[in-house]
Amino acid sequence: MNEDQTFAIVGAGQAGGWAAKTLRDEGFGGRVLLIGDENYPPHERPPLSKEILLGDAEKETCFLWPPTVLNETNIEMRTGIHVTEIKPEAHTLMLTGGEHVVWDKLMIATGGRATTLPADGADLDGVFTLRTINDSEAIRENLNEHTTVLIVGAGWIGLEVASAARKRGAKAIVIERADRVCERALAPDMSQWLHDLHVRNGVEIRYGVSIDCFEGDEKLERAVMTDGNIIDCDIAVIGIGLTPNIELAQAAGLEVNDGIVVNEQGQTSHPDIYAAGDNANHPNALLGRRIRLESWENAQNQAICAAKAMLGQEITYAEIPWFWSDQYGANIQLMGLPETWDETVVRGNRDKAEFVEFYLKNGQIEGAAAINNPRDLRFTRRMMMSNKKFIASELADQGVKLQKLLKG
Ligand SMILES: Cc1cc2nc3c(=O)[nH]c(=O)nc-3n(C[C@H](O)[C@H](O)[C@H](O)COP(=O)(O)OP(=O)(O)OC[C@H]3O[C@@H](n4cnc5c(N)ncnc54)[C@H](O)[C@@H]3O)c2cc1C
Repeated sequence: MNEDQTFAIVGAGQAGGWAAKTLRDEGFGGRVLLIGDENYPPHERPPLSKEILLGDAEKETCFLWPPTVLNETNIEMRTGIHVTEIKPEAHTLMLTGGEHVVWDKLMIATGGRATTLPADGADLDGVFTLRTINDSEAIRENLNEHTTVLIVGAGWIGLEVASAARKRGAKAIVIERADRVCERALAPDMSQWLHDLHVRNGVEIRYGVSIDCFEGDEKLERAVMTDGNIIDCDIAVIGIGLTPNIELAQAAGLEVNDGIVVNEQGQTSHPDIYAAGDNANHPNALLGRRIRLESWENAQNQAICAAKAMLGQEITYAEIPWFWSDQYGANIQLMGLPETWDETVVRGNRDKAEFVEFYLKNGQIEGAAAINNPRDLRFTRRMMMSNKKFIASELADQGVKLQKLLKG
């Protein structure tokens, strides 16, 4: 199929890797060119703030496939190479060094980069962000019983760093501009549950403050807070969010709006250019709105769908967003992106840290969050897809199986 064509993929992270593999799995016989500016084969990032940071795994465990798979499937992988320009009308792209590549179809899977803090001293040695394998390994070297780690931002990455720091014996201080942890993702009572978990594990969390500047003689020694307080620390990890890598697409004249704008097939405003993963702003028919998702499942499944669409298959991408985090051995999972709801139902035991919380609007489940209860959470997806109405007291009753409620 399409033997004389070249399909190029910019970005060899999770979405790029899956797009390349899918083209081959679906029988594409032309040239598959996968270009990534990191020096590693396609890999996934969740372990970078979990197992790798804890020292329980090495970087090779993040690789999507053993290196031989790329050769066996005839995927041409160019690592450590940055794409500097895309010319949609000429169907070319340019690499660092000036080499031109001609493509027939293109996927932009450039993900995003950790947002940096515009504070004096943020470039000192010892101030980190966490996005790459190299970041994770460098931070890990500094997590031990002799170090104090200042974490800026109580989002998922910041809290996972705090968890790893405590497990490795370091002192962890988290500062957060908002008044609770994971403010954008969690209901207030779930934020409180997570706050308590961290405090029980010895983390100090300060709310309503940010960084004024970092100070140190060549290397970080202290941070000055916006409230004037000073925190002595050995390293700081900035976890304040992700900036999607959209500049290439923007310069190429593609439509961008909080990410590269794509349709249900992952197609951008140019018919031969697709995008998927953290950088893609896509319509989600199940949620009834456009979203840009930063999640493992989305990076994989959206890329698979877009790659199939590149091959002309009639396919649409719409999934209920799912996300997980692991902290101090507790597994936290979220389903959906609820914006408003009128009822919260708890099923299970909060004190024993084994429960799921459903967020209901007019009886329908808008979303759910679970602590150490992946089974119920997984089933929630089917309940949400059913568009059925549920009765709060039945949902809360652990004696009644969720399967029965779905059928009934
Ligand atoms: C530390 C960490 C922990 C996470 N934990 C979880 C989790 O527990 N659960 C969950 O659901 N999600 C988690 N995520 C999110 C998930 O990993 C991302 O959603 C996913 O990696 C996105 O994949 P992507 O391919 O879109 O982007 P990326 O994986 O970032 O890949 C993009 C690649 O493109 C390269 N690139 C960019 N521009 C160019 C260019 N011009 N030329 C060449 N190459 C380029 C980049 O260097 C990068 O290698 C985590 C993310 C991080 C960073």
